Amino acid sequence: MPSGLGLDSSAVRQAMVARLAAQGLSEPAALQALAAVERHRFVDSALVNQAYEDTSLPIGLGQTISKPSVVARMLELLLQGRSRPLGRVLEIGTGCGYQSALLARLAREVYSLERLRALHEQARDKLRPWRLHNVHLILGDGMLGYPKGAPYDAIISAAGGESVPQAWLDQLALGGRLVAPVALVPGRQTLVVIDRTEQGCVQTVLEAVHFVPLKSGLA
Ligand code: SAH
Repeated sequence: MPSGLGLDSSAVRQAMVARLAAQGLSEPAALQALAAVERHRFVDSALVNQAYEDTSLPIGLGQTISKPSVVARMLELLLQGRSRPLGRVLEIGTGCGYQSALLARLAREVYSLERLRALHEQARDKLRPWRLHNVHLILGDGMLGYPKGAPYDAIISAAGGESVPQAWLDQLALGGRLVAPVALVPGRQTLVVIDRTEQGCVQTVLEAVHFVPLKSGLA
């Protein structure tokens, strides 16, 4: 690929970030991470030309990599109003590992769970060249959370059920924030934010979203 014109050029990511900023996404750290991580390395070679469009793309086994604007939005929600950097983060649904690579730049430790073995292994292979020592990829049922890494400053899910599993609330640190798609009304997912405060968990329901279903067990 000619240098400066191909997907390896940071210009394509800068352009994507400029479009996200024009849509109103403004969290500097999240945008910096999106400008740095090469999304085209995480998608199938037949789809690389779409890697910097604001679209979700298939990653196999009926799953998708979320579209950049939604990823940016969720990261923004996790970082918003924090006085300290993120410590430990739990990610549900590693998928292709793209968001894990973003989180690696935003948090001290990232614990990422995936229930599909083939995707877990694929993500491990994709992330290997970057040697992200703070990313821990785990084959496991995210509905149970991951108690070994708890409590978490942030929990982020890329798959949505009808409610937020109790394990996630139990593993959220005081002052921590959870962001997940939840179908509070069957068939209609919305982004839900839960803050764990001294007074208990406070839930905020945001915009409509479309994520793959949260499923239990391994496969
Ligand atoms: N952030 C991912 C998005 C992947 S799609 C990326 O950047 O590619 C969501 C993923 O959640 C799918 O891979 C799906 O298999 C996974 N998933 C669904 N339910 C799960 C569960 N209970 N535990 C772990 N992963 C789950």
